[in-house]
Amino acid sequence: MAYYIIPPSIDPLSEKNKELSTQQVKNVFEKLGIPQDRPILLQVSRFDYFKDPIGVIKVCRQVKKRASCRLILAGGIAEDNPEGSYILKQVKEEAKGDLDIHILNLPPDSFFEINALQRGADIVIQKSLKEGFGLTVTEALWKTRPVIGGNAGGIKLQIKDGENGFLIDSIEETTDKVEYLLKNSSHAREMGEAGRKIVKDKFLITRYFKNYLRLIGELCS
Ligand code: UDP
Repeated sequence: MAYYIIPPSIDPLSEKNKELSTQQVKNVFEKLGIPQDRPILLQVSRFDYFKDPIGVIKVCRQVKKRASCRLILAGGIAEDNPEGSYILKQVKEEAKGDLDIHILNLPPDSFFEINALQRGADIVIQKSLKEGFGLTVTEALWKTRPVIGGNAGGIKLQIKDGENGFLIDSIEETTDKVEYLLKNSSHAREMGEAGRKIVKDKFLITRYFKNYLRLIGELCS
C-alpha cells in the first residue's frame, strides 16, 4: 500500500499572513496596550502544557537580568482542552507583577491581531515540548522573524538550526539563543530572510495544491 505525507502550508494572502503596514502593526499594539519601546519576544499558542508557556516566562526572566525586552504570550483556550483555563491561570500567576510580560487571551478569530503581533516581534519563540507541525513557526518565518523552536515534531522540518532560527531543548538553551539574537541583530535579520525563503520554497499553499494535484493524478492513472 502506498501512502503520501503532505505537510501543511500557509496562505500568504490570508488575514493572518497578508502584508501589513508599520502603521497597521502599531495600531494593533496600541489597541492591545503593549508599548513598542524595547525588543519584543513573542509566543503565539493555545494555553497548553505542551507549548510550555511557563518555560517561556522563565526564559524572559533570565534574559531580563541582562537585557531589556518585553514578552507577549498570545493565545486562546481550545474548546477541546479543558486544561486551558487552568493553565492560563497558572501563566497569569507566574507573570504576576511583571509589567514587561503581556498575557493575551485572544478570541478565536484574532487573525489580523496575530499577524500584527508576529510582524511586531523581534524574536518568535515556540518552545513546544511536543508538537504536530507547528504552523505558528511557519507564520513567523514567513514574516522574516528568526524563530527559536522546541526540538520537536514539525518544528524540526522548518527550522534549520543556526540558519533561520534555533532548535532548543531547555530553558537555558532558549535563554542563550534569545540573548544571542538580541546582541546580533544583523545575523537575526539574515536568519529571518532565510526563514522566509524556506517557507516560500516548501510551506506555501501553492506547494500544497501541487501535492494534491499530483496525488489525484496518480490515483486516476
Ligand atoms: N492560533 C490562533 N489563535 C490563538 C493561538 C493560535 O489563531 O490564540 C493559530 C496560530 O496562528 C496557528 C494555529 O492556531 O495558525 C496553531 O497551529 P499550530 O500548528 O502552531 O499548533 P496547534 O494549536 O495546532 O497545536
